[in-house]
Amino acid sequence: MEKKSRMKIGLFGGTFNPIHIGHLRAAEELREILQLEKIYFIPASVPPLKDLKNIASPSHRLRMVEIAIEENPFFQSSDVELKREGPSYTIDTLRFFSSKFPEFELCFILGSELFSEIDSWKEYNKLFELTHFAVITRPGFSKNLLPSLPLALKDDFIYHSDEHNLIVYLHKTSKTLALVQIEGIQVSSTQIRDLIYKNKSIKYLVPKEVERYIFDHNLYKKEAPQ
Ligand code: ATP
Repeated sequence: MEKKSRMKIGLFGGTFNPIHIGHLRAAEELREILQLEKIYFIPASVPPLKDLKNIASPSHRLRMVEIAIEENPFFQSSDVELKREGPSYTIDTLRFFSSKFPEFELCFILGSELFSEIDSWKEYNKLFELTHFAVITRPGFSKNLLPSLPLALKDDFIYHSDEHNLIVYLHKTSKTLALVQIEGIQVSSTQIRDLIYKNKSIKYLVPKEVERYIFDHNLYKKEAPQ
């Protein structure tokens, strides 16, 4: 009898400073393409590799995530990285989720620009023992991931399959690395902070409840965005 593959949950980490419709739409498209049971949005407390200026407090960023995903039953938020002392490392988050949900496969979601730096992450070699990866690409971005794989990792992957919006590589641990082409929406948190700083509208770039939250709490007004 063919072994039934285990259900997958997606883990979508980010600064979410603030969350925007690009994040939401990407998660929704990935959920459908990869048939994920749920996606956890996981705001990072102190992003180890990001500039720390003009960042809203962890509790504001978490609250905006909660508000943004409220009406989607497939989306959840997690404060695991905010509760942990010190910087957020993906390896620690993966260990947390794999012991919390031993019956599920994990699928870590990230943009291609982040994936190309993965060899600078803490214990990066161990990541592939714990999770599958889904790397988001958008139209116009390269569909071929192998050239941008960190050198140290190139020999660990072999090509597996190519469907129209999904190219899959297999890691030696048998976890997959899927390059997922989504339609997406071209917007960034930097753009939103920049608009707010210049007193311009952010309408339709974030859910309207998030827009209200930003203005009620006077976020991103004071400092020029980085
Ligand atoms: P910033 O502009 O402050 O760098 P950002 O908009 O890239 O922020 P992050 O919170 O850093 O947002 O992103 C979290 C994850 O979401 C990253 O993996 C990033 O690649 C991805 N991402 C960001 N914007 C989009 C978008 N418009 N479409 C798809 N994925 C996105």
